[in-house]
Amino acid sequence: MPSDFRVTLLGTGTPIPRPDRFGPSTLIEAGDHTVLIDAGRGAAVRLFQLGVPIGRIDALLLTHFHSDHTVGIPDLWLTGWLSSYFGNRRRPFNVIGPVGTAKLMHHLESAYAHDIEIRVEDEKLEREHVAITVKEFDEDGVIHQTGDLRVLAFTVDHGEAIKPAYGYRVEYQGRVAVISGDTRYNANVLRHGAGADLLVHEVAMAPPELLGQAHIQRIVNHHTSPQEAGRMFAQARPRMAALTHLVMLASDTVAAPTIDELITATRETYAGPLVIGEDLMSFEIGESVTIGNLKSRP
Ligand SMILES: [Zn+2]
Ligand SMILES: [Zn+2]
Repeated sequence: MPSDFRVTLLGTGTPIPRPDRFGPSTLIEAGDHTVLIDAGRGAAVRLFQLGVPIGRIDALLLTHFHSDHTVGIPDLWLTGWLSSYFGNRRRPFNVIGPVGTAKLMHHLESAYAHDIEIRVEDEKLEREHVAITVKEFDEDGVIHQTGDLRVLAFTVDHGEAIKPAYGYRVEYQGRVAVISGDTRYNANVLRHGAGADLLVHEVAMAPPELLGQAHIQRIVNHHTSPQEAGRMFAQARPRMAALTHLVMLASDTVAAPTIDELITATRETYAGPLVIGEDLMSFEIGESVTIGNLKSRP
């Protein structure tokens, strides 16, 4: 059932360059507002598949600076500038994120300066539409508000060295969607996600045979296990719970856990509504929360 508040998972993957699970990126459409949370690999491709012109994005919100969440930024920024139906941005590229966002964007401007000069001269593209505006924040609170849309950032725990790291709570006309960002099981996610219409949480799982390896242990320690994600959902009791950012660890000789194994492990601690995210899966948040895909999109 179409709603005026829709969350679409553009990428449900990790650094693994899989063609079926692109890098982390989540599209929020709320009335006339269009916001993107993170810009992993292929975010621009997924927007094109949806028929959403890249230039329509009002704001890009970043959760943290791991490259799998940011490598899609130059594509969104520069392809969105092109004078075409798939781009056509008629205003500066607006980025909101933790302290460090301005530095990242400043260096991207330097890296692509030559392309910008070329296109201004050759294609007569407007300089002001490739300009970047950045708003940084360094504490929890409202970081974006426009009309009936309000977005709060909250600190999460992605490990000692991986700071800053935030999750987002998106509020629109009394409805709430919460995106955990990359985190271990964290009380802030519960605080902001309790009773949400939609709680989208990251997850990581490793085959038991690999848990003895130090680098596997390190990755698992930066994320939330299926049992912990289930515990979060059981406590927060969202109307719909979704897993995304599927860190399914493997080696050259040991296969990654299956989706069925992920579901079974999550079900050890949670019996409520649950869906395993897929790229281009959407959630229509209205009277009820309904799950859609590319074909069901209005
Ligand atoms: Zn991360
Ligand atoms: Zn990540």
